[in-house]
Amino acid sequence: MKVTLIRYTPEPEYTVALAAKTCHTRTVEDAMKLSEEEVRKIISIVLKSGHFSVLEHANFTFAIEDVSRVLTHQLVRHRIASYSQQSQRYVKLEDFPFVIPPEIEKNPEAKQIFIECARKCMEAYNGLIEAGLTIEDARYILPSATKTNIIVTMNARELHHFFALRCCERSQWEIRELARAMLGEVKKVAPNIFVDAGPECARSNCPEGDFSCLKEGEQK
Ligand SMILES: Cc1cc2nc3c(=O)[nH]c(=O)nc-3n(C[C@H](O)[C@H](O)[C@H](O)COP(=O)(O)OP(=O)(O)OC[C@H]3O[C@@H](n4cnc5c(N)ncnc54)[C@H](O)[C@@H]3O)c2cc1C
Repeated sequence: MKVTLIRYTPEPEYTVALAAKTCHTRTVEDAMKLSEEEVRKIISIVLKSGHFSVLEHANFTFAIEDVSRVLTHQLVRHRIASYSQQSQRYVKLEDFPFVIPPEIEKNPEAKQIFIECARKCMEAYNGLIEAGLTIEDARYILPSATKTNIIVTMNARELHHFFALRCCERSQWEIRELARAMLGEVKKVAPNIFVDAGPECARSNCPEGDFSCLKEGEQK
């Protein structure tokens, strides 16, 4: 998996603070006069008060490479975002384009089963194309482990929500790895906006009930 923050709203924290300050200032010109300290303070108030709509003014675009279609199927369930994914109709897959889950990787017997099956899928895929099928029809034989690339843009409000759900231990390992990598990237460029971002239990009680990864008595 490779995760790159390729573009983001210039000065995302200033932009969010300006949006918030505009609500309480007579002119935009006045609102634009913001010191770094004021930006920090306003963002802290926004996060504490729950006036999250101003976070929507800061957008972040990620390139996500070499992840499985399992992951992207889960990712695109997050609706307040924009996506562009490598097309299996137009891009012919080569070699061994599959993600092997770590639990399978470390179990020799399971790994052998996985690799044999994945190779057979590729043989069938290539065989169908040689038999005259289009790659858009041949792809129906490909498993969910098939690698893909996707560009995703989310605003800071949606990212907070995404991190709360997908940095959580209850999330599957691959999308959790992605969410944690994305959080690491945005923290570098907007540390105040994402200061408390992460699984819900980092801020309050775990919402997972019986499925919680925390033992009774450990909840914050
Ligand atoms: C651990 C885990 C297990 C999961 N298991 C399953 C599963 O077994 N089966 C399954 O189908 N899915 C499953 N999901 C996916 C889950 O149901 C959500 O589809 C996904 O997490 C996106 O969350 P969301 O809808 O809150 O986010 P988004 O789509 O990003 O939306 C963000 C927020 O916007 C608001 N919103 C967006 N669209 C609407 C709307 N149409 N109407 C009203 N409000 C809206 C809501 O407040 C929502 O929380 C799982 C997710 C997790 C994290």
